[in-house]
Amino acid sequence: MPIRFDVLTLFPEIFHGYLSQSILKHAIERGLVEVHLWNFRDWAKGKRKNVDDRPYGGGPGMVLRCEPVIAAVEAVQARAQPPGHLVMLTPSGERLTQRLVQELAQHPRLLLLCGRYEGFDERIRILLQPQEISIGDYVCNGGEVPAMVIIDTVIRLVPGVLGKSESLIEESHAEPGLVEYPQYTRPREFRGLAVPEVLLSGNHKQIAQWRRQQAWLRSQQRRVSCSGSQPESPPASREAHPHEDHCADRSDSQSGYKVFPSSQTSS
Ligand code: SAM
Repeated sequence: MPIRFDVLTLFPEIFHGYLSQSILKHAIERGLVEVHLWNFRDWAKGKRKNVDDRPYGGGPGMVLRCEPVIAAVEAVQARAQPPGHLVMLTPSGERLTQRLVQELAQHPRLLLLCGRYEGFDERIRILLQPQEISIGDYVCNGGEVPAMVIIDTVIRLVPGVLGKSESLIEESHAEPGLVEYPQYTRPREFRGLAVPEVLLSGNHKQIAQWRRQQAWLRSQQRRVSCSGSQPESPPASREAHPHEDHCADRSDSQSGYKVFPSSQTSS
């Protein structure tokens, strides 16, 4: 069964280029991933189809209204089974990490709620109880790019999407706190910089050992960590524990191209 994403947004067109390129395009063509786009505006009532309004209490900007957003979520959930795991993209959410991506990838269906303007009326959050996710401590103009980040990171973990699943084992953050070793390709020398001899040796055991050490050194140097600390020594073998959880105690880490144009999404 493919993993299904339902993206709820005011700007579905933003996704068209993204969906028609590279890994995601092929995954959709091969039936491994489905992405359905929905426009909140199709659930807005009245002549003007307003989806936003001024904030009570004053202040700049506009706020997304409860009625069209909640009607859209309920209608989209009812379109297919299971109703799906609801994610709200928000800068105040739980920070996206590889560990959270691994959790999201367990769901057969994800609904991604993309905000705009000043964000969502608080009652949307209270009533729908979505998982709130932030892609980092900065503010984007809308939830569309954050939704693409979630789709992009999750589909890498869907079996069959990547050509070689080993890429996932060796990859940065596959094991929390560890980044990937340096990579080289031709030419053997460029502007006085030669490829490390060991990589040319053909000795697979030594190459694996060198890579583990380099990954560990680089992780230490760059202070990549899920909990503020790095692994204390190079792991004996990453392959043996590709998804071992070193972050269990961390408080904030709980952790085909089927686009439905807005014309087909009458409420
Ligand atoms: N006024 C909001 C605040 O201060 O938290 C920011 C609203 S932002 C301009 C509009 C929308 O972009 C948000 O509702 C959210 O969906 C999305 N967004 C912006 N930054 C994000 C982030 N770092 N992670 C996830 N979503 C984000």
